[in-house]
Amino acid sequence: MLSEFTLIARYFQSRQQADSRVVLGIGDDCALLAPTTGMQLAISSDMLVEGRHFFPGTDPTRLGHKSLAVNLSDLAAMGATPMGFTLSLALPKANETWLAGFSGGLLALAEQYQCPLIGGDTTKGPLTISITILGQTPAGQALRRDAAQVGDDIWITGTPGDARLGLAALQEEITLPPDMLAYAQQRLEAPTPRVQLGQALRGIAHAAIDLSDGLSGDLGHILTASGVGATIVADDLPVSSALGMQPQERQRQYGLAGGDDYELCITAPFPRRAAMIAAAAACHTPLTRIGTIEQQPGLRIVDQRGTLLDLALFSFDHFTS
Ligand code: ADP
Ligand code: MG
Repeated sequence: MLSEFTLIARYFQSRQQADSRVVLGIGDDCALLAPTTGMQLAISSDMLVEGRHFFPGTDPTRLGHKSLAVNLSDLAAMGATPMGFTLSLALPKANETWLAGFSGGLLALAEQYQCPLIGGDTTKGPLTISITILGQTPAGQALRRDAAQVGDDIWITGTPGDARLGLAALQEEITLPPDMLAYAQQRLEAPTPRVQLGQALRGIAHAAIDLSDGLSGDLGHILTASGVGATIVADDLPVSSALGMQPQERQRQYGLAGGDDYELCITAPFPRRAAMIAAAAACHTPLTRIGTIEQQPGLRIVDQRGTLLDLALFSFDHFTS
């Protein structure tokens, strides 16, 4: 029987990355980090509960990836540089095959973004993964939700709606050809946090948010916090070839209100268009302009000709759905 300490040592401690910012990692009562002078700490937590955020039986490697990806995505949305994270894990049993897969997916992403695991807590219980991530950003340069300004362009990374497409296929609401199923399921289960672009947009963009609950709702948070409104052009939303095969109504519903994409929605002043495009190219991140921040409160969604669309969009909310 695997003890708690052997489990931590074998799957989490043994693969600690060397990192000059980590003075002391796993093994003591606290980890010790050395932030860079002049930087502010950016801290965020996200919890994933089996049966709520992921299906029982989800591939453990992908689950490890996603658990950290959603947290890295929060740092990306602030323009912060990752420093490290803690992992609090409730496990029904110590299944070594599961632990090997989970820690493998988790720590591979941690290595990719130089974000070492620095501590955590392990307990028996219904499968729950809670990560707290720490990052840093130059004082005053974080991409806050309350910083959008009238006249800003609205930009989006990637192709929102793909994770929702994957969910619909897994829930058998729709059927996809095998290659498109593989693509959409991968977008759902192993999202790409836009960490590099987030940092590159410091000093260029005004506001940013990552898309966890759906574009219309998440952009709505920027609008409310900034005391502004917006118009976005539904036909300008980038659509993947997989989602592009679906009827237009579903494309719009998933693209505008599908959750779990972990793309970034960004506002930036229009004189910085060239800088936005250059930053996206340097980070190899697809970036599309989809609308404008306006004085009039509320979110308006129009078609190519500017006609207002009357769409019933539902953003995800844990306590109403
Ligand atoms: P404490 O008694 O202070 O809560 P623990 O015995 O829970 O400490 O943990 C021992 C060490 O292992 C600590 O440094 C803690 O941060 C680390 N740790 C515990 N669980 C995990 C985990 N799931 N991932 C990474 N580190 C962990
Ligand atoms: Mg503990």
